[in-house]
Amino acid sequence: MSDHRVLIAGSEVSPDHFINNQRVSSESTFEDRSPLDWNLKLADVARGGAREADLAITAAVEAFPAWAGLSHQDRGVFLHRLADLIDANVEKIAAVECLDMAMLEESLRLRVIGRGARNFRAYADLASAYHSRKWDSNTTHNSVFRMPAGPTVVITPWNAPFMLSTWKCAPALAAGNTVVLKPAEWSPLSCSMLMDLVLEAGFPPGVFNVVQGLGSEVGAALVSDERVRRISFTGSPATGKYIGVAAATNLVPFTAELGGKGAFVVYEDADLEAAAQKAAVMYDDAGQVCLAGTRIIVQESIRDEFLERFRRHTEAHVMGDSRDPATTLSPLIHPTHFERVDGFVQRARQNGDTILWGGEPRGEGLWYQPTLIAPKSNDSEIVQSEVFGPVLSFQTFTDEAEAIKLANSTKYGLSSMVWTEDSAKADRFGEQVRAGTIWVNCFLIRDLTAPFGGCGISGIGREGGDYALDFYSDLKTYQVKEGTTHG
Ligand code: NAD
Repeated sequence: MSDHRVLIAGSEVSPDHFINNQRVSSESTFEDRSPLDWNLKLADVARGGAREADLAITAAVEAFPAWAGLSHQDRGVFLHRLADLIDANVEKIAAVECLDMAMLEESLRLRVIGRGARNFRAYADLASAYHSRKWDSNTTHNSVFRMPAGPTVVITPWNAPFMLSTWKCAPALAAGNTVVLKPAEWSPLSCSMLMDLVLEAGFPPGVFNVVQGLGSEVGAALVSDERVRRISFTGSPATGKYIGVAAATNLVPFTAELGGKGAFVVYEDADLEAAAQKAAVMYDDAGQVCLAGTRIIVQESIRDEFLERFRRHTEAHVMGDSRDPATTLSPLIHPTHFERVDGFVQRARQNGDTILWGGEPRGEGLWYQPTLIAPKSNDSEIVQSEVFGPVLSFQTFTDEAEAIKLANSTKYGLSSMVWTEDSAKADRFGEQVRAGTIWVNCFLIRDLTAPFGGCGISGIGREGGDYALDFYSDLKTYQVKEGTTHG
């Protein structure tokens, strides 16, 4: 047991693990600093390893039978209580997550953290509403049941850590699984706050655990533990491959929500002002959004008009402190990531790509100018690789066939957007473009019951709605011979 709580943005936040409903420390720690001011150390966070992975998975294994044995409705009571507690603590969680990862505080407060509560409510209700499929064949009455799959490891990235973690943990818990969550080491604090609420909501010990630490240490230990029955991962394709190997070694089903390089295609008949305004939204959160349309691809006939409007909306962005409501552009998460983003821009220059605007750091701190780059060719790195920063590419096309070809020309396939007033044209785009989600004349509108995931190197499997509940369950076919009577 330990309690090394630190005061962050007015809240006492534990930097320790949460295992079996208790705070557990580690012998070593890692520093967590704020991207808003890199001199500001927020906490020395427990650095888990094999010992903590083992403790947490043991807790999840021991808690599993009783949790799995509850009815959906009884589990739903805990999930609803947790959702209510999240809603009651949105401001505190938003303030800490803002300092920890620098997403705009207002956006966290008004939308992102509350989505965590919606995730728990939606899955509690969906799991309870499940009706097993029933049908008769020649000689049997048949049904399909969902069985809770078992202890589940959830590994999440540093962007929107609270929301993305709850998106995965909510269906896992609702399906009857116990969970060990490992948040990313660059923004570990909001998930620790979630655990205080788990305790307050009265969850039984071992049902929902968090371990903190580095991916290569505690993360690797968690995903290679044979007792784990599901792995759910969100992060980069490189780590996804590594975790896929660990999952395959133990024959554990896993889902991976990975990076994106979305096409943002604007036809000449589009509402250009709406499209240009939304294109500038791709710089929000410093471009650290997997679903963003980072390849702006517009019809040649509207190139200049679109660019002029897009530039105007880009210039309206305000770089600043993410706690200030006037700020629209936050800093990048970490100096290492800052160097990575700048590296893409430097290499684009060396490659002969044209910097249309931006292309430099702000000059102090971790802010990077919103940047637009016209590549020398479609093979340029800036078109083909995810930057995960405020750096977009800009290309043109002449006809529909070329637009669709460009949209499909990377290894990614998470999301794409198309802007046109012609619904038949939009439908043709929707049919022919390979992506997990396609938005027509909109962006980032989500229905929690819809499948979510990526094609190509953007991911494996689908989460969302019943797709997630199926993933976190083992499906059982139950066949009863006709004429069998109750004893
Ligand atoms: P990352 O792959 O570096 O890390 C993600 C998580 O994996 C972290 O918690 C990390 O500690 C852990 N990890 C790293 N190595 C591990 C290992 N060997 N074993 C187990 N765990 C390990 O990704 P990141 O830099 O944190 O996040 C950015 C990436 O996430 C981008 O590619 C982005 O597009 C993607 N992302 C995708 C979605 C989506 O829904 N598709 C959402 C958000 C972010």
